[in-house]
Amino acid sequence: MEDTIYAPSSAIGGAIAVIRVSGDQARRVCELLNRDIARQPRKLTYVKLQQNGELIDECMAAFLPAPATYTGEDMFEINCHGGMQTIQRVLFALGSLGFRPAEAGEFTKRSFLNGKMDLSAAEAVMDVINADAEQSLKAALLQLQGSVRREIEGVESLLLDALSGIDAAIDYPDEAEADTLLALPESLEQAKRRVETLIAESRRGRVLRDGLRVAIVGRPNVGKSSLMNALLGTDRAIVTAEAGTTRDLIDEKTSFQGVPVRLIDTAGIREADSEAERIGVDRAREAIQTADVVCVVLDASVPITAEDETLLRETDGMTRLVLLNKCDLAQNDIPSTPEGIRVSAKTGEGLDELKTAILRLAAPERGDGAYITNERHIRALEHALESLNDAKNADELDCAATDVKNALHFLGSITGTDVDASVLDRIFERFCVGK
Ligand code: GDP
Repeated sequence: MEDTIYAPSSAIGGAIAVIRVSGDQARRVCELLNRDIARQPRKLTYVKLQQNGELIDECMAAFLPAPATYTGEDMFEINCHGGMQTIQRVLFALGSLGFRPAEAGEFTKRSFLNGKMDLSAAEAVMDVINADAEQSLKAALLQLQGSVRREIEGVESLLLDALSGIDAAIDYPDEAEADTLLALPESLEQAKRRVETLIAESRRGRVLRDGLRVAIVGRPNVGKSSLMNALLGTDRAIVTAEAGTTRDLIDEKTSFQGVPVRLIDTAGIREADSEAERIGVDRAREAIQTADVVCVVLDASVPITAEDETLLRETDGMTRLVLLNKCDLAQNDIPSTPEGIRVSAKTGEGLDELKTAILRLAAPERGDGAYITNERHIRALEHALESLNDAKNADELDCAATDVKNALHFLGSITGTDVDASVLDRIFERFCVGK
């Protein structure tokens, strides 16, 4: 059908490099080998790779016949030595057979186009490669196995039922219209509820992919840097007994219970004495606005101050936790202290409860771990939801039918049953070459 393509699929610098070939002509790789291993498919075999009688490398190679391959096409996989010189010579030899270098993501794109996987699963391939926390990987693997497709197909089937009812009512108005108008709200409502749930759960999905942004705020000296270090288990933030030393944002990655987290230690929020401090305070305010969870730190060993109160007022209504730090010093509860989680950056008390509370607040869990994590999918779901709302409010059956079809179009764009070539190009150009 298409050109035969090749690309290195392993990272540069290893002892062994994996080079893949895919396409109708893939078996011609045997012309470069000292024997025709295509007669023994799927068997990794020791071969000499040579061109014009000159040895290029000693390799292990296998011929993988279509259709049971990653791309659905004939494939060849060559494991050669990993040095740049060797890789370049192998690639050159493959080029001399008339094959061309693969574009970014082209193997996976072919896999999708040949019906080996739906589009949402194809997109999960990069998420699997990029996952940097346990649960992100789990969500990506489930997506790879079709978890998103199954959810979408469930909603599509409800909508197709609704649509056939509407169409029947349009064709035979006398018999069916009354029933359909009655039944319509229920089936649409079910589909709408499922889409709403998927969007709500996707919040955790996004967190699994991009990390949960946790801003740590509080007046100087309440122990923000110490808490950050205790949560990270390192000494990245500068801890000092002098007020106002954390001038800029410190942004560190970690994970809580397998969920990736970005901890942002902010400058103390207060009246700035200098330009540098003012910039720090502005950036702290911005970090608070964009965070998934804001942790307001108070010093539990001293009475609450006016500055604390201002901060509590400013963060009221946000997704917020109040931390009563230095609880190792606080003998008795100070009467004016608000409700909060008692922690000690010094002894580690309360830190596990804190992590659990942060996760529960910002990223509610779904039992099977199958979250929708991809921004494109979430946007399509949001558009589908708008169309379903329009359908529900439509006065005429014709309009409702159009709205339901629109919703189906947005859902189809997720799994790839209804998607433009330009969208596909944009998706796959973000992939790495060789995948
Ligand atoms: P920041 O300005 O809010 O970042 O505060 P720091 O983390 O620099 O801490 C200010 C001071 O409070 C330092 O002397 C810390 O050692 C001390 N401190 C921080 N957390 C605790 C705690 O939980 N218990 C005790 N006893 N001291 C703490």
